[in-house]
Amino acid sequence: MWWCNKYKKGSKFNISYNKWLKEFIIENPPEFKISNTCCKYAKKDVAHKLLSDFEYDLNIVGIRKSEGGARSSAYKSCFDENGKSKKNTYDNYRPLFWYKNSDKEEYDKHYEITHSLCYTEYGLKRTGCCCCPYGRDFEYELKITKEYEPKLFIAVNNIFGDSYEYTKNTKNFAKR
Ligand code: SF4
Repeated sequence: MWWCNKYKKGSKFNISYNKWLKEFIIENPPEFKISNTCCKYAKKDVAHKLLSDFEYDLNIVGIRKSEGGARSSAYKSCFDENGKSKKNTYDNYRPLFWYKNSDKEEYDKHYEITHSLCYTEYGLKRTGCCCCPYGRDFEYELKITKEYEPKLFIAVNNIFGDSYEYTKNTKNFAKR
């Protein structure tokens, strides 16, 4: 569906959404493994297994609707019963779901929250897996990581180096 642009016109799930990507891949077939299941095996399955194995009743996740992005738009409200699959025994609660940026600021002030250096010193706007190769700003994150966390920089390059290189080449190809 992705490769043949079979999703509806203009959908970001079509390869044509990223101009020149298909042409680049045809001219430069990747020589390393690429998968869309990194999140599934590194995060989702691990968390779901833990919740099920220990028969937890409630899964609490700190996601806000106003963050935007795929994760927040996947949910309609702060609560749903019994997970998404029938074998799950737990409900899902997102206590921060309706918090706006202004609520966040008020909360910070009231509880005198100390934020991570990632935000206060390194200048990152949001954090997740360090330098995720799927991240839009991974090159900026790499720059920051190299400067402030040099050992982590070596680690992420060991894991995702090929992917960074390939993505950079894709972008350069599109600029030609
Ligand atoms: S590195 Fe990126 S794709 Fe992999 S688990 Fe983290 S967020 Fe998901």
